[in-house]
Amino acid sequence: MQAPIARRGLMLVLSSPSGAGKTTLASRLREDEKGIEMSVSHTTRERRKGEKDGRDYHFVDKGAFTSMRDRGAFLEWAVVFDNYYGTTREPVERALAQGRDVLFDVDWQGAAALRTSAPRDVVTVFILPPSAEDLEQRLNVRAEDPPEVVLRRMRGASNEIQHWDEYDYVVVNHDVEQSAAALRAILAAERLRRERLTGLKGFVQGLLAAL
Ligand code: 5GP
Repeated sequence: MQAPIARRGLMLVLSSPSGAGKTTLASRLREDEKGIEMSVSHTTRERRKGEKDGRDYHFVDKGAFTSMRDRGAFLEWAVVFDNYYGTTREPVERALAQGRDVLFDVDWQGAAALRTSAPRDVVTVFILPPSAEDLEQRLNVRAEDPPEVVLRRMRGASNEIQHWDEYDYVVVNHDVEQSAAALRAILAAERLRRERLTGLKGFVQGLLAAL
């Protein structure tokens, strides 16, 4: 079989209000798809139970975060619910150049910043909850967050949802299986975009020369 045509990686950016199932969908996509890896953000928020440093986030204090920010280490950063969150530049640039895709779980501010900094590499998807009740229930189930945090996140949800129409794709998460399939379809199509296929020109030249 012929080797696949070389391509530049893409940045698949998922946003949603907390509790809409984005984290589950992101891990599903990584299980189902080869060649896509998660961008692990830096954050100053407290580690939740079950979270692992270096896997879910790089947990850092405010001093470390601001010094990284000041030396330009972040592709984008934002304050969400009083905590700092940021995406480091270097691992993303390396992955894209090597034809690997990177998955991002960032809020609307992060999506907007990434779109501005790398418009040709970024594909954005907004995940909507199927209903307000569903969202509230999922936030309450996340027992490790205190009630006042759940309440703030519900309010935050409405602010986040306002930005739905800035995204390339919108998936209403009625069913995890269906939403996971939708994400795989988006990824499959976006991987085939002509502009990303850096090896296409040489391939076509070879094809034409042989005709
Ligand atoms: P959580 O604290 O629940 O893990 O995340 C809170 C919010 O911060 C989520 O909307 C998540 O998408 C967003 N977030 C996580 N990492 C980053 C990042 O690196 N940059 C930005 N802008 N938002 C992030």
